[in-house]
Amino acid sequence: MIDFRSDTVTKPTAAMRSAISQAEVGDDVYGDDPSVNYLEDMAAEMFGYDNALFTSSGTQANLLALMAHCERGDEYLCGQQAHNYKFEGGGAAVLGSIQPQPLTNQADGSILLSDIEAAIKPDDIHFARTRLLSLENTIGGKIVPQTYLAQAQALAFERGLKIHLDGARVANAAVAQNIPMTEITQYFDSVSICLSKGLCAPVGSILLGDERLITKARRWRKVLGGGMRQAGILASAATLALTEQVERLAEDHDNAALLANELANIEGFSVDMSQVQTNMVFAQVSDDIDVKALAVDLKAKGILLSPGKTIRLVTHADISRADIVRFISELKGLLSRG
Ligand SMILES: *Cc1c(COP(=O)(O)O)cnc(C)c1O
Repeated sequence: MIDFRSDTVTKPTAAMRSAISQAEVGDDVYGDDPSVNYLEDMAAEMFGYDNALFTSSGTQANLLALMAHCERGDEYLCGQQAHNYKFEGGGAAVLGSIQPQPLTNQADGSILLSDIEAAIKPDDIHFARTRLLSLENTIGGKIVPQTYLAQAQALAFERGLKIHLDGARVANAAVAQNIPMTEITQYFDSVSICLSKGLCAPVGSILLGDERLITKARRWRKVLGGGMRQAGILASAATLALTEQVERLAEDHDNAALLANELANIEGFSVDMSQVQTNMVFAQVSDDIDVKALAVDLKAKGILLSPGKTIRLVTHADISRADIVRFISELKGLLSRG
């Protein structure tokens, strides 16, 4: 199968499977799992934070960050398109009693600083307490500019807000800009990073923060049922995500550029090339093409994508350049058949 639906479909590498089979484990709820401890210490050191916490998913890492920064009746500012607002089941409100204050995302993924300023509530019993600014990078495959991150951090600091990064794909953002990940994460009080997307780990994310934040997050993780026992089985693979898989993402970005160029040349498909910055391609499909039928025909040829008026195609470790070439040729064949 050539699976363009997401980079979450990546399978663990051979090195990960071998690490899993040899992982030293213990009960992580007691703090006794050496493989989890190794990963958390390594990640904290690598990114320059006091502590790190291994979580079952990116959704959980974001929720823990929100619940550690905010109390009941607080609010966080985020983009309308933010994953931790739009795609996480409203977890902050449902489980944390935290109100989201979504703001318009600009075309480059940023939120206007003036919009942020205007949304910060005064200390008044009518309002929720504005506590946190949450940004995302990459967002919809786009890289949020470094200069903007610095400005957003300065604003948060000035107004007494904490600042969180949903860095599910921060490694993609770093590799595409040819900078270390720490150049991005340096602006944030806390960061969540998915190890199970382009970085190929089977399960898990990491949350970075200071000691107080991670202690609080660790407590909430247990409350939410995320205290895992011999989690070293997972952490051993997740460690390799950070140490062995980051640079490889450049191939995914090259493949996405190739895919975008090829799709843009097919009649009925249009691609805004300015949006193709990492491993995602969004193709607009004209109304006279039946995308659902096309997806069914492609599936019969071993190619998976999520149909829609805009098709999102994601490149990853299990899609090669040759796979892209084959997909384009199958697509052209199906379209010419009508
Ligand atoms: C995938 C994703 C998450 C959530 O990760 P899961 O592991 O799927 O829960 C959070 N934020 C962003 C930006 C993501 O793309």
